[in-house]
Amino acid sequence: MTANKPSLYEERCRLAQSVMTEDQIDYLFIGPGSELHYLTGTPGMENERMLLLVIPQSGQPAMIVPTLEKLATSKYATYFDLLDWSDSTGPQSRLTELLGAAQGREVRSAVGAHLWSLFLLELQRTLPKSQWTTANDVLRKLRIAKSAEEVSLLKEAAAIADRAFSELIELPFAGRSERELMGEVNRLLLKHGHEQMLFCIVGSGPNGAQPHHHTGDRIIEVGDAVVLDFGGSYHGYCSDMTRTVVVGKPADSEFEQVYNIVNEARAAAHRQARAGVSCESVDAAARQVITEAGYGPFFVHRTGHGLGMEVHEEPYIVEGNPLTLAPGMVFSIEPGIYLPGRFGVRIEDIAIITAEGEENINHSTHQIVTVG
Ligand code: ZN
Ligand code: ZN
Repeated sequence: MTANKPSLYEERCRLAQSVMTEDQIDYLFIGPGSELHYLTGTPGMENERMLLLVIPQSGQPAMIVPTLEKLATSKYATYFDLLDWSDSTGPQSRLTELLGAAQGREVRSAVGAHLWSLFLLELQRTLPKSQWTTANDVLRKLRIAKSAEEVSLLKEAAAIADRAFSELIELPFAGRSERELMGEVNRLLLKHGHEQMLFCIVGSGPNGAQPHHHTGDRIIEVGDAVVLDFGGSYHGYCSDMTRTVVVGKPADSEFEQVYNIVNEARAAAHRQARAGVSCESVDAAARQVITEAGYGPFFVHRTGHGLGMEVHEEPYIVEGNPLTLAPGMVFSIEPGIYLPGRFGVRIEDIAIITAEGEENINHSTHQIVTVG
């Protein structure tokens, strides 16, 4: 751990506390996952044993941890107390110790999205007079615009995905199952620098027409279009890219036409994306291209989502979201056209809003690639 890391997490906690003061939130409760990772440097261990970061509006934060996690967690405990509990005692006495003074009061509590309902119910029994809200409103203000350090981690994550893709398209596809290809994607993401793979969609032929196809046993055939959507994490920050390739022979004219429309929609969204414009206007830029080409009903999802320590986070690039883009915001642009029973095309890159405009941090080709 470098010397400046503790101050980074402590600074984030102080910022959270100042937002809590503005929003009149008395307690923030965060369980294992990316929210905890963001605030402490560790995602924690997610299981049925309570591990909970408790940040009061002012004063000293604390983390309730199972005794068996105490040693592993102690190196991250740079600004909060560690209160451990054993399997024989349970966490309740620690909760009472921390929150006892608030038990009879009408407080406002914000709960992280990743906190299991099991623990929320326990908290609700401990603070029966509390009002409950989501911690997302507090954390969004901290996390929606990325720092320079976060941007550089996201750029490296994107570069890893690009390198994995460039090697992937040299491999044979025809005659292999989607699941086998998924294994190759996972292997290449790790080989090129991801610490963990997070998801992989291999949607071949008609399966590509389901945007979130569950990669399965279908054998990839010559002539198939294959949607490849994958990502992993690097120091807690995610990659997420999609390319659609054709197998064994040049694309037919219909595929090429659909592909070019998606690619033009993608480019139009990138041109629109800059500080000062709304999220929904970026969605509209992509959607207009697809709608004017007559494929509007086949673009069945939003244009993009924010990316950071989570694969899907704010800002959402979707109709009805008036949020104004600002420097440091990072999100996907991923239009698609899905023709049921036939094939799908999606192309996805990650965009960063800068002071000057927008930077596309994926560099893999947007031309149609034919694989073997
Ligand atoms: Zn994706
Ligand atoms: Zn995505």
